[in-house]
Amino acid sequence: MKKWIHGNFHTMIREDEVFHTMLTDNGVILGFDDEIQHIPCDEIIDLHDHHVYPGFVDAHLHLLGYGRFITLIDLRNVYSKDRVFKALLENRHKDMLYAEGYRDLGITKQDLDAVIADKPVFLRHLDYHSLTLNSSALKIVGLSNSNGILREEEAMRVLQQLPKHTKEELKVMLKHAFKQLHAYGVTGGDSDDLYYFNGFAETFSVFDEVLKEIPFRTHLLMHHETITDYLSSGKSWNEQTPFLELGAVKMFYDGTMSSKTALMRDSYRGTDQYGEIVMGKEKFVETLKRTRTLGLTAAIHVIGDQGLDDVAHLLKSYPPKPGQKDRIIHAPWAMKSTIPLLKKLPITIDIQPQFLSSDLPRALSYFSKNPDLIFPWKTYLDEGILILGSSDAPVETPNPLFGMRDAIYRESTEDKKSYQIEEALTPFEAVKLYTTYAHHQHVNKNRGYLAKGMLADLSMTSHNLFTLKKEQWDEKLIEMTVIDERIVYKR
Ligand SMILES: [Zn+2]
Repeated sequence: MKKWIHGNFHTMIREDEVFHTMLTDNGVILGFDDEIQHIPCDEIIDLHDHHVYPGFVDAHLHLLGYGRFITLIDLRNVYSKDRVFKALLENRHKDMLYAEGYRDLGITKQDLDAVIADKPVFLRHLDYHSLTLNSSALKIVGLSNSNGILREEEAMRVLQQLPKHTKEELKVMLKHAFKQLHAYGVTGGDSDDLYYFNGFAETFSVFDEVLKEIPFRTHLLMHHETITDYLSSGKSWNEQTPFLELGAVKMFYDGTMSSKTALMRDSYRGTDQYGEIVMGKEKFVETLKRTRTLGLTAAIHVIGDQGLDDVAHLLKSYPPKPGQKDRIIHAPWAMKSTIPLLKKLPITIDIQPQFLSSDLPRALSYFSKNPDLIFPWKTYLDEGILILGSSDAPVETPNPLFGMRDAIYRESTEDKKSYQIEEALTPFEAVKLYTTYAHHQHVNKNRGYLAKGMLADLSMTSHNLFTLKKEQWDEKLIEMTVIDERIVYKR
């Protein structure tokens, strides 16, 4: 039994409800202040007046993708040949040296061979379209090339051929991801990883094994291409362990903004293109129907306003079982006419507030005409459409404080202007995105508030998030992260 004293426990039930002492046992909250005053405990933890919230949750990210991102050799901030060589030498214990973000500094196969000859070296250029290889790497992919620099098609073919990560490597990546997330105050996340690495079974066992060592409440979406493997695995849907559950079937309706494949009502500026349905409509509908036949829910990637409208109509035609909720991922643009339909559907939307600060105003320059609604979070909330906060890491840094900041201020990093401020959320609502609301898709309703009977997953900050000044959101505010009553991070 643990008593947590001198804290400011924000229950998230009401904005002004704060307790100062909390008792926990067996990973569960037993009560606060007066009601627990006389109960003896084994351990007392002094929180030094810090502010405590229900554990932050990231509703859409890629845990393994993020782990790979933080463990690979990152050359984005390396501007000289010597520094590239130094970075490689620091990593020479690895079986294969794979770096991303290399700025074309004129390094050749011969230069790389002089530094590391016995292990394959792959430098992926910053534009993602070119690669520089040493002789050992060229040999592995069966190419002979005078300077080791491959571009476009040839580079892409080589990337397809790269050896897969071993299970041990995946476990290391996942551990790194969990550790970094703990430091950001994150106690759980809904992740899409089961397709992109070593297949459903092995990737699932990577999670299962790592979660026995490191606590993190993990909810895994199942990419539609893995459904057959899921069925033959014999696993049940939803809860597997207190730290692992299987969720909705991930499918893609349209593409992305940067490639102009998000499906828009109005054409992209200066073109007659509207984006596309990436799987083709027939295959998409077929996949959705199969999901229903299996009694599962859908998690649909959709970016464009026309795409969102199409998806809403399809979900109306092919609804889930009563009591189930589908999830829509992204939905940054919307037509006004889609909202009445969306609010009637059993859905939640995973939003990424950081996309606003990263993508505006550039994204708007792609359009011939602005969409009716732009990152319409307040509209979604006011209309009773459930929204959940997320980062889509490694696309954005999975620091919920950045997401909260962007939900409140809606300010672009590029031009420092606020966009559609009428769609801004209050600090209380912004914190709810990553706490209370982030659990809309979870099986058990025992997280998201600080209350008796809820799990003891906690995120602690040095300051009160409801009264923080704008510039303070960028500071290091996380003091402690607790999962299952265990301290997993302490500043
Ligand atoms: Zn994603």
